[in-house]
Amino acid sequence: MKHTAQWIRQTHLFGKDEYQCSACGFLSGRPVAACPRCGAKMKGAKSGASWVDALAAFDAIFED
Ligand SMILES: [Zn+2]
Repeated sequence: MKHTAQWIRQTHLFGKDEYQCSACGFLSGRPVAACPRCGAKMKGAKSGASWVDALAAFDAIFED
């Protein structure tokens, strides 16, 4: 099944950031282009305060 989702950035005070699939909840160490578990194509990433940072990271990934 093809669908889209986005990474929800989980920041950890004493650890690396994680990215959670908004469709299935899968946690990834980095915002890859598609969810390894449910296969959702990622449209971007969001988080409470660092949305701009996440966008900058995705520019590199989704560049054609
Ligand atoms: Zn997923």
